[in-house]
Amino acid sequence: MIPVHFETAVVFYLLAILAIIALAAVCNAARRRGMRTEPTPTHIFSCSKCAHPYLDNHELERSNCPRCGTVNEPQRF
Ligand SMILES: [Zn+2]
Repeated sequence: MIPVHFETAVVFYLLAILAIIALAAVCNAARRRGMRTEPTPTHIFSCSKCAHPYLDNHELERSNCPRCGTVNEPQRF
């Protein structure tokens, strides 16, 4: 067994706890950075037949309603 002073053991114990907390913080920050996604641009459509509001690709001039299939134009505000 290696002889260690009590103060040295306490310091190493606290340093180990700090290292674990720092490692957890770095892993959590990396995980949050990976979850961030950019929103895709969309247009708001409102079905002229069933009045169902929905979002679709902003590049589309017309979109089919996901409920009834009616072709709709994007809402203008
Ligand atoms: Zn519809």
